[in-house]
Amino acid sequence: MPIIDAHAHLYPPEVNASPAAWAATRGEAHWATLCTRVRKSGRPVQGFPGVAELLRAMDAADVERVVLLGWYWETPATCAWQNRFYAECLRMHADRITAFAALHPGAGAAAVREEIARALDAGFRGLGELSPHSQGLAADDPVLGEALELAGELGLAVNFHVTEPDSKDYPGKIATPQEDFARLARAHPRTTFIWAHWGARAALAPGIGAEVRALDNVFFDTAASPLIYPPKIWREMADAVGAGRIVFGTDFPLVLYPARETAPSMRSLAGEAGASGLNAGELAAILRGTARRVLGI
Ligand SMILES: [Zn+2]
Repeated sequence: MPIIDAHAHLYPPEVNASPAAWAATRGEAHWATLCTRVRKSGRPVQGFPGVAELLRAMDAADVERVVLLGWYWETPATCAWQNRFYAECLRMHADRITAFAALHPGAGAAAVREEIARALDAGFRGLGELSPHSQGLAADDPVLGEALELAGELGLAVNFHVTEPDSKDYPGKIATPQEDFARLARAHPRTTFIWAHWGARAALAPGIGAEVRALDNVFFDTAASPLIYPPKIWREMADAVGAGRIVFGTDFPLVLYPARETAPSMRSLAGEAGASGLNAGELAAILRGTARRVLGI
């Protein structure tokens, strides 16, 4: 079955050539902490493939289309720069690639509006992966609020990086309170939100769960799942919110099974989904149908 991978990242050649050095010159220390890290085993947490390798990984996993997400960069300049790179990727491979734009609300309302207009012109389908908390902004930042409202008007989906309050620590982890994202979803009911990483299981939580399940403009992606949750998460989330609110995403080029894989792959997570006890209809929705509907693909 053809698959849509709704959560991946890609960087220009100058990043891939020397990620840590690039980050140091661009003032992107938080990204470097997360992405250029080496595990205790001595292996890097992720690869730095180019577009050709991305397309090969897609072919190997029967992924017909990938959604390239921006990063929650520390500087507006890096956001704009990544968006230009993604626009070029779109121009070259519109048949295989969908893109979301990076944004830094700290750039100010006018600059953010301009960046969104450019993204829309270039054919981007959303904003994100956004993490205001990682960018040192309050979740009720007015420029962020304006961007989220505009996204709803323009039909752009918004992907939020959501982390679990009680999950194990990892270098660079930043608390991203689920209540903040729920408040934003309520404040912008016309905007479609995708909460990354299963929305940190907020939909299953005893306290906030019922409220999150009732937010019908909120969807969930499966990015990095095996690094965070056991495989029973697929069944639990499908039962809680329905497969029509779950989109498959890998977090490529992160290595998802570091105990047995040395290179990023999209195929292994699709395999985990297939073996997770979902029925054929649920699997088809999660691997393709929900993303098509939500992103208008
Ligand atoms: Zn991601």
